[in-house]
Amino acid sequence: MDCANCKNPMITAELENVEIDFCSGCEGIWLDAGELESLLADEAQSRHLLASFVAAGQSTETGRRCPICRKTMEKVYAGPKDKAILLDRCPRGHGLWFDRGELKQVLESETLNQNSKVIQLLKEMFNGMD
Ligand SMILES: [Zn+2]
Ligand SMILES: [Zn+2]
Repeated sequence: MDCANCKNPMITAELENVEIDFCSGCEGIWLDAGELESLLADEAQSRHLLASFVAAGQSTETGRRCPICRKTMEKVYAGPKDKAILLDRCPRGHGLWFDRGELKQVLESETLNQNSKVIQLLKEMFNGMD
């Protein structure tokens, strides 16, 4: 799979038994449909997060293409309104694209336990980036 942002080949990494695709060039992350839910490992929490996604409409960020179907992805806001994070979502539901640091931001914006294993792992994985 090629990076949706810089076109480098993506590396598959395993986080909490969930395979995520990671770009070593731009540090973007692709999550297949359902993987975010698996990472959160809490059904109520992931439902709450996914329900917070709002289509962003016009955006100044360039549209990226889904690495699976190549359709231009749509922009969605995730997380609480006051600190929403702009993500890319495949209009056909293949998955979500997170720019550098955005997955960590999304997870941190939620009322997740900040000591949860997945956040710790992400911090290690993206050590030094914020
Ligand atoms: Zn990249
Ligand atoms: Zn797609």
